[in-house]
Amino acid sequence: MVSSVQEFNKHYHDVLIIGSGAAGLSLALRLAGHCSLMILSKGPLTEGSTFYAQGGISAVIGQYDSIDSHVNDTLDAGANLCDERIVRYTVEHGRHIIRWLQQQGVEFTHETLADGSATLHLTREGGHSHRRVVHAADATGKAIETSLASQALNNPNINILEHRIAVDLITTQKLLGKNNRCVGAYVQNLETGRVEVFQARFVVLATGGASKVYLYTSNPDTASGDGIAMAWRAGCRVVNMEFMQFHPTCLYHSKAKTYLITEAIRGEGGKLILADGTEFMHRFDPRGVLAPRDIVARAIDHQMKRLGIDCVYLDISHKPTEFIKSHFPNVYARCLEFGYDMTKAPIPVVPAAHYTCGGVMTNRKAQTDVENLFAIGEVSFTGLHGANRMASNSLLECLVFASSASEDIMARLEEPPADVEIPPWDESKVTDSDEEVVVSHNWDELRRFMWDYVGIVRTTKRLQRAKRRVDLLLREIDEYYSHFRITRDLIELRDLALVADLIIRSALSRNESRGLHYILDYPHIDPKLDHASTILEPKNYCPLPVK
Ligand SMILES: Cc1cc2nc3c(=O)[nH]c(=O)nc-3n(C[C@H](O)[C@H](O)[C@H](O)COP(=O)(O)OP(=O)(O)OC[C@H]3O[C@@H](n4cnc5c(N)ncnc54)[C@H](O)[C@@H]3O)c2cc1C
Repeated sequence: MVSSVQEFNKHYHDVLIIGSGAAGLSLALRLAGHCSLMILSKGPLTEGSTFYAQGGISAVIGQYDSIDSHVNDTLDAGANLCDERIVRYTVEHGRHIIRWLQQQGVEFTHETLADGSATLHLTREGGHSHRRVVHAADATGKAIETSLASQALNNPNINILEHRIAVDLITTQKLLGKNNRCVGAYVQNLETGRVEVFQARFVVLATGGASKVYLYTSNPDTASGDGIAMAWRAGCRVVNMEFMQFHPTCLYHSKAKTYLITEAIRGEGGKLILADGTEFMHRFDPRGVLAPRDIVARAIDHQMKRLGIDCVYLDISHKPTEFIKSHFPNVYARCLEFGYDMTKAPIPVVPAAHYTCGGVMTNRKAQTDVENLFAIGEVSFTGLHGANRMASNSLLECLVFASSASEDIMARLEEPPADVEIPPWDESKVTDSDEEVVVSHNWDELRRFMWDYVGIVRTTKRLQRAKRRVDLLLREIDEYYSHFRITRDLIELRDLALVADLIIRSALSRNESRGLHYILDYPHIDPKLDHASTILEPKNYCPLPVK
């Protein structure tokens, strides 16, 4: 174990965790006291998707529920692309994870039983055949994120730095041209603009997803795919990027910035209707509004395109006012801010990019293709989600694989550190930009064509068009990057463009419609592709020696 050391612009720790959502914070709390560690967030500590999760976290707790049932529902949603061993491994940890979260101070919603005892209240969401979603009213992510953040802030063994954006991973392949071991990261201090070296024996990507690649998204600004892009550049394989999940119901309002309306509203009897009150979901799936998200999002997209309308409506106003206010206090209050009283009338909704099912390939220990580099949470591809993530399985995945990573890291703390000298960031050939407009223009262009050409319903022609656009953008961004001093916008644009390219390439290579990938040229599942993930290999990928 090395102690935490900081020289000018240089930091040394045993473990560097990039990202402070459910994945990063829970890993830090599990490792604290066993080694020196640093956790970085590119904005304020609690800003990330975790904070905004509403519905909850799945776990087999209900009397009539079973591990097999949760496994089968997950496999079903994943359309034959889940790794069943990983699904079972994750699901089996559900109950333990909920207990661990309660020990960290997370207060979940309870209900009182007939005999007067209190038990966790379980709600139901799309794809789940039982009530198995543990929640804290309709702000579960906030309860988890703030509890974990407060534990971390009060823990003297955890070092935290906010407003630090990781730019690139540092590997022995880049430094010495041999093997491929991660030894740290170059990180920009957003308060000073300086790029600092964070050297570590183990580096963990916990950077979240990439939904900002689309014009409309339920995700916060942090979700720019940085971890996926950094891992790819470092030599990691990236898997199943065509499976981007669109949440069917985000509030449609010019100022709401696609505020997400939890699926639990449909679980509690909410209906999807057109402006004239017609229900339409049963025409698309016998499960109606409780069909998996991809089917609901596509049905809404279909209605919007068919009728040329801007939105559809979600109606739960037939339920008692008190029920709505107590189950969905935050959604109720937020909608009211925008002038919609959901206890009295339907609210307007549209789909928006929501979750990145693909990501950096990892194994059960959260290890990646690069030695001593781990990936946990939404940035990773574990095999849990397959072609479509089932609601409330992602927070569970963050916490389960953070726990797996912590066990592996702790077991390897005695291994000798890499003997490398990391050079400082080289700024000798760049100047301040006088062309910031290039960055803002390319941001807009990228997110617009991804929405139009690589969205909910795809065609080969549109994907090819997107590919030509992204190739051009990548060249422009590369040139810009090599001439000008970096900024947060430029770093994120460079990462998003790379992720967009990976999404398009993955989508072009899947000649079938399955789960979240729906392409008009190949409208059916190809049974020959059952269990076939889309695995992209970077040029510098070198398989790890089998130990
Ligand atoms: C509106 C909404 C509702 C959701 N509801 C649910 C739900 O009910 N149940 C469920 O299971 N899932 C839900 N999800 C999905 C779930 O919240 C996420 O998958 C999960 O929280 C991801 O956690 P994470 O720790 O991987 O990443 P995040 O919580 O997104 O955290 C990412 C962290 O990485 C940091 N970061 C990113 N890039 C860099 C960089 N370059 N340098 C430094 N730091 C960086 C960010 O600052 C942040 O701290 C929801 C998501 C959204 C957006």
